[in-house]
Amino acid sequence: MKTTVLIPIVLLLSFAPSVRPAERLENYTNKTVLVFTPHPDDDTFAVGGTLALLAHNKNRVFVVIYTNDNKGSYDPDMTSERLARIRKAEEEASCGVLGIPKENLVWLGHDDGELEYVPPKMLCGQVTKIIRQYRPDAILSVDPGEWYARWHKTDHRMAAYNTLDAVRAAEFHLYYPEHLLVDKLQAYIVPNLYFFYTTTNEANYYVNIDPTFQLKLEAVAKQVSQFEPAMTKYRPDWDPKDLARLKEEYHKEHEKKDGHYVESFRYATEFNQK
Ligand SMILES: [Zn+2]
Repeated sequence: MKTTVLIPIVLLLSFAPSVRPAERLENYTNKTVLVFTPHPDDDTFAVGGTLALLAHNKNRVFVVIYTNDNKGSYDPDMTSERLARIRKAEEEASCGVLGIPKENLVWLGHDDGELEYVPPKMLCGQVTKIIRQYRPDAILSVDPGEWYARWHKTDHRMAAYNTLDAVRAAEFHLYYPEHLLVDKLQAYIVPNLYFFYTTTNEANYYVNIDPTFQLKLEAVAKQVSQFEPAMTKYRPDWDPKDLARLKEEYHKEHEKKDGHYVESFRYATEFNQK
């Protein structure tokens, strides 16, 4: 009995057409794009080339940063307060290279590695409110998985689920009704979702970043504290040798498709799109 019920469902899933956006992300102009990043570098590492394209094409790009990244250092002399300041300056510099001004960065300020300990209703409300305020044409965020959940490290996992939970809450006025009653923010349906850090077999959308690859590299290099030797003994600048090696590795190892540098996404249209 079970088998007969299961087979049609499996067939249906395997032949389900994948969704396509009405307008390609990289062709956007004069639109609002909201990026949710767990740490102040996942945006650059994952989708820096795409963000540079969007900014260049005169879109309003806002980056919401869940955590202040104040734990990831091996330097025994580093403190959390100092690291948070360093990470903020590096992210501002990084986004500046991509064409996103620091006024467009929204810092939620949660502690690194502890996003899962933030009261969930508060965290979801925080992001729901931002979505209702900015009313984006597209959201870029960490992939929570479609047909199966993949493992993500802690803040990535929480950011992935929380952003999508907030997308759902944002469209119904009865979630967080104080947004309407107190802040006069209307409910909002997000029309396009692009998930990054997706698995190879679930990626269904690729942006050619050949025109902005060098900018991405330059933006990545602004995140000095995230690479050795600054990770073990902090220094604010690069030894030219180390920088040359980083760039060489990036050229070699960056995702490519059909001979082009690309950034891959899973495109979806709704929180419950299937
Ligand atoms: Zn991260």
